[in-house]
Amino acid sequence: MAKPKDDFDLLITGGGLVGLTLAIAMDRAGLSCAIVDNQTPAHTLAPDFDGRTCAIAYGSRLLLETLDIWPAMADFAGPILDIRVSDGDSGLFLHYDHRDVGDQPFGHIVENRVIRHALYKAFEGCTHSRLFAPAEVETIDFGGKRVHARLKDGRELTAALAVAADGRRSALRDMAAIGVDEWQYNQTAIVCTVAHEKPHLGIAQERFLPAGPFAILPMAEDSESALEYPHRSSIVWTERTKLAPALMGLGEEGFGAELVRRFGDYLGDLKVTGPRWSYPLSLQHARSYIGPRLALIGDAAHAIHPISGQGLNLGLRDVAALAEVVADAHRLDRDIGSQEVLRRYQGWRRFDVVVLMAVTDGLNRLFSNDIAPLRLARDIGLGLVNRAGPLKKIFMRHAMGNVGDLPRSMQGRPL
Ligand SMILES: Cc1cc2nc3c(=O)[nH]c(=O)nc-3n(C[C@H](O)[C@H](O)[C@H](O)COP(=O)(O)OP(=O)(O)OC[C@H]3O[C@@H](n4cnc5c(N)ncnc54)[C@H](O)[C@@H]3O)c2cc1C
Repeated sequence: MAKPKDDFDLLITGGGLVGLTLAIAMDRAGLSCAIVDNQTPAHTLAPDFDGRTCAIAYGSRLLLETLDIWPAMADFAGPILDIRVSDGDSGLFLHYDHRDVGDQPFGHIVENRVIRHALYKAFEGCTHSRLFAPAEVETIDFGGKRVHARLKDGRELTAALAVAADGRRSALRDMAAIGVDEWQYNQTAIVCTVAHEKPHLGIAQERFLPAGPFAILPMAEDSESALEYPHRSSIVWTERTKLAPALMGLGEEGFGAELVRRFGDYLGDLKVTGPRWSYPLSLQHARSYIGPRLALIGDAAHAIHPISGQGLNLGLRDVAALAEVVADAHRLDRDIGSQEVLRRYQGWRRFDVVVLMAVTDGLNRLFSNDIAPLRLARDIGLGLVNRAGPLKKIFMRHAMGNVGDLPRSMQGRPL
């Protein structure tokens, strides 16, 4: 039976990278989605909205390929062929070569703006779903057989399942009274793009400096721009929060000089291109990923330190797992918002997230300091991991998102 106009299978709050991917996955499986976002695509696609890039792990790429989203970003994605992790300026480093675990890159560096563009393009082809933007949920009732939401502009939407994909400050999570455990890192990530004289050869560098990790991420070349050099890298520079405003306030020359002090000259002359952005860092974990007719995904469920470039990848694994359990229930004509379905989703995701959270948090604490005995211990540790082949391979497979009980769509199989 046809649904009334404003009745959907899923109501997703937040049409960011994670929410949009879920809507596309569900639409491809024949389910209808209403996405409610308080920002319009024109706003989120503007060049000054988000200067970040994401390292899309190999497993996430498979999901984006399965959903036919990847082709729109493939030409703008810089493959990660090699990862080098070093402790300050000590010579010791871990060296991961993608050829040690196969013939695929570990992942690709893609600008968030490019990912968003590809997602909106794919969403335009979705026949069952609609984007409500700018719009916000004012009240929601999770009781009964359907979720009833009233938007601030007075529209009413109903669905079998509500999904909170509205980021760290999730309003829907608050409306469902799901608490979060949170702590601040007292660190801020400064993000910018640099053009450099020499090619990066697909090598991602992570340098652990006393204030926090300094990452140099290999972007695709930009041969069409008017920049002096086509070779580009994205910088994620973690600083102590109290120093970040002073660095952000420096003039071009002063900022460039501070950057070069950390970057070095291994890629020759370099220029900061475009604006800088800063993001205060914190860890957040929702006490539950589910409620009555509600699932939390992406940063609304968990937000981690960017040290390992895995935040979005975790969110995409949520998408793949939730899409699979919902699509399976739909195929069997079961209630997609039932607790049985939601518990399957939570059981699948929570352990993976907790492990990664502990690892990223532990790495940040261990490396973001200059305490001599810790420094010695971690340099010995880096050296040992570098020599221990099997352990190194486990780390590499984790970086590729190629471990654990993977959803079908992350193995390149349809939903
Ligand atoms: C410096 C930095 C570097 C990073 N690098 C990487 C990386 O290399 N690899 C990686 O995997 N991850 C990385 N991450 C993490 C990644 O950016 C996030 O995990 C990811 O963007 C989360 O996506 P999301 O869709 O869950 O949330 P968001 O991107 O926050 O999207 C939330 C959406 O909800 C909307 N919204 C918010 N509130 C409301 C509301 N009340 N009503 C309706 N809509 C609302 C917003 O407009 C937005 O569209 C990095 C993070 C940082 C800070």
